[in-house]
Amino acid sequence: MKKLYRCKVCGYIVGSKEPPEVCPACGFKGKIFEEFESPVSAKRRIIMKLHIHPVMVHFPLAFVLSLFLINLFDLINIIRLPSTLLAMAEALVWLLPFAAVLATLSGLYDGRLRFKRIDTPLLKKKIILSSLFILLSISLIVLQSLLDLDQASYRLMILVYSIALSGIGTWLGLIGGSLIEAKVRG
Ligand SMILES: [Zn+2]
Repeated sequence: MKKLYRCKVCGYIVGSKEPPEVCPACGFKGKIFEEFESPVSAKRRIIMKLHIHPVMVHFPLAFVLSLFLINLFDLINIIRLPSTLLAMAEALVWLLPFAAVLATLSGLYDGRLRFKRIDTPLLKKKIILSSLFILLSISLIVLQSLLDLDQASYRLMILVYSIALSGIGTWLGLIGGSLIEAKVRG
C-alpha cells in the first residue's frame, strides 16, 4: 500500500511504500520524510495522474507540426514527397479543429478537476487562446475552399497558419506547464 511522505526539509512529496532514504528533490539523507495526508481525494488524484489534458494537447500540436513540415518540404521542393503524405496533410487540415476541440474540452475538465473552477485569470486566458486556436483552424478550412489558390500559395498559407497555431499552442503549453506544478486544494 502506497503512502504519501513529505520531506521535512524542502516539502517534496512522494508516494511510496516506504519513506525514501534520500530526498530526490533536495538530496538530504536520513529520516527526513514524514507521513503526509493529502487533502485531495484518492479518486481525484487518480484521474489527475492520467494527465488527460496534457496528453490530448499532443494531437493538435502534432497535426500542426506535420502540416508545417509536409508543406515546407513540398514548397521548397528538395525531396519529392509521396502523394499519400500530401493527401494526409490535407486530411490533417480537416481533423485539426476536432483535435483542438477535444483538447479544449479535456482542458476544461482538467481545470475543473484541479482548481474546482475555470474562471481564474490564467484559465480564462487559456480558454481565450484555445478558442482562437479552434477559430483559426476552422478558418483555414473555410479559406482553402473559398480561395482558388495555386499550389504554392496554398502551401504558403498553411505554413503561415501552422506557425501562428504553434505560437498559440506554445503559449498555451507554457501557461499549462505552470498550472500543472500547482498543488491542488482539497
Ligand atoms: Zn527534500
